[in-house]
Amino acid sequence: MKKHLLFLGPPGAGKGTQAALLCKKKDLIHLSTGDLLRAEVNAQTPLGLEAAAIMNKGELVSDKLVLSIVEKKLSILSEGWLLDGFPRNLLQAKALEALLEKLKQPIEAVVLLELNDDQLIKRLLSRGRNDDNEQVIRHRLEVYKEKTSPLIDYYNKQGLIKSIQAEGDIEAIASRIEKSIS
Ligand code: AMP
Repeated sequence: MKKHLLFLGPPGAGKGTQAALLCKKKDLIHLSTGDLLRAEVNAQTPLGLEAAAIMNKGELVSDKLVLSIVEKKLSILSEGWLLDGFPRNLLQAKALEALLEKLKQPIEAVVLLELNDDQLIKRLLSRGRNDDNEQVIRHRLEVYKEKTSPLIDYYNKQGLIKSIQAEGDIEAIASRIEKSIS
């Protein structure tokens, strides 16, 4: 069983739900940069105040800010972990690689959740988060395609990608994921 994992995929593919399920079952630490950022926003920290406006527009928060959060968290973990929603672009992926080399904890698999745009939009609209109105959703999908999807090729070249069809019920998807990383 692999214990150093990334979850990759467009907004609405179910990364958060599936990551939480897998972490509970396999005793991994779930690190979601979206959740960590939302916690900063709710606590109205300086970092949260800086991030909120950007998140509500569906843009990516600055690499520097996100990297500082992830570095702080990863450096104190020795157990298995799952990164959800990070990295979001090539710069973040390269920074992560350097950090993990230092920590001697290389990525063992990248789970890619795939779903078509119509279904993504339907799911996101039913979720009702602050950044889930239709205009912002469409923008987030564009940002994903432009900035994040090049990571598929990047990790494919390293032989790490496990493609999962993210359609159907939650349990069925969860079992596909488990098999892919066993
Ligand atoms: P998520 O919960 O993963 O959908 O993230 C919600 C929002 O948080 C995104 O639309 C971005 O504004 C911000 N965010 C989360 N993770 C990152 C990241 N790795 N880099 C930049 N921005 C991020």
